[in-house]
Amino acid sequence: MRQVIQLILSLINNLFSNYIMDSLLNKKIFLLDGSFISGVRPYVIDMDSIMKHPLWGSNLLFDNPEAVINGHKDYIRAGVDFLTTNTYQASIEGFQKYLNLNYEQSFELIKKSVSICRQAISEENCGRKIQILGSVGPYGASLCDGSEYNGNYIDNINVKKLSDWHRPRIQALIEAGVDLLLFETIPSVDEANILLNILTEFPSHKACLSFSFKDSNHLSHGETFASAVERLWVNTFQEQLIAIGMNCLHPKLITPLLMSIKTENVNFIVYPNGGGIWDAVKKCWDNTQKYTISIDDLSIWSKKGLKIFGGCCNTDATEIANFRNLINALN
Ligand SMILES: [Zn+2]
Repeated sequence: MRQVIQLILSLINNLFSNYIMDSLLNKKIFLLDGSFISGVRPYVIDMDSIMKHPLWGSNLLFDNPEAVINGHKDYIRAGVDFLTTNTYQASIEGFQKYLNLNYEQSFELIKKSVSICRQAISEENCGRKIQILGSVGPYGASLCDGSEYNGNYIDNINVKKLSDWHRPRIQALIEAGVDLLLFETIPSVDEANILLNILTEFPSHKACLSFSFKDSNHLSHGETFASAVERLWVNTFQEQLIAIGMNCLHPKLITPLLMSIKTENVNFIVYPNGGGIWDAVKKCWDNTQKYTISIDDLSIWSKKGLKIFGGCCNTDATEIANFRNLINALN
């Protein structure tokens, strides 16, 4: 029975993936949501403890699902086309260690992130088709030491170990029926390659891939963005990879990064941080000289192939609603 259900889900998913692909090729920019943490902020009392928690908000799936639903709902009201699950920092290992769950309970909690998105969509009843993206953060995020912004662990880690760490979350998100996977804030080509290889084990499913960066030319780990796109976009993964791009970066890096790409016909996904500068001493965002994204920016990026746009750290529903207006004006 379970296999029949899986088959039906997989056929439905394939139809949706094809629909998204056709839409991507034929029209407009799709709007993604913003930072989960910023979105949930109005609904939690002790934000500080969430920021310091090793699961960095994924624990709210267990501790405070109502807050998660409310955060999602704000993004739906802001006009998103894509809602992201609260699983960036979720892992079986992490849930076992920090929530005292067993393997099965951890697996089910990851699946719950999708039903929470579904509940938010259903209760909001906005009349638009909203797709659910299953967030898959890098291994480095689970180390809680900023490794996702250098990716150095990839040079010493066993490939099988890393694959085995990533696989259950991907499997749980797929079993729960996500429309697409979102491999995000990935610091190196090698980790992206591992994720895309796992994706080939689920051939009817598709994903977006988004890297983290250290400057206007290089991924956090040091490879050029151009070489990453060239290697991953035009090869066997292309059947399952619907967009490639960047997140968690200052908006001013977007234009040079996109312009560095010579590969033809690339669909880009881009979701930068909120335009302020991170003050590492005060551990907060300095918005005194905030970069505001304009319709001219969006127009340039759109001509280069931007198909999915949203926000990363320090972007909330207000910012996403502004992006909705920009996209509507452009489309
Ligand atoms: Zn970010």
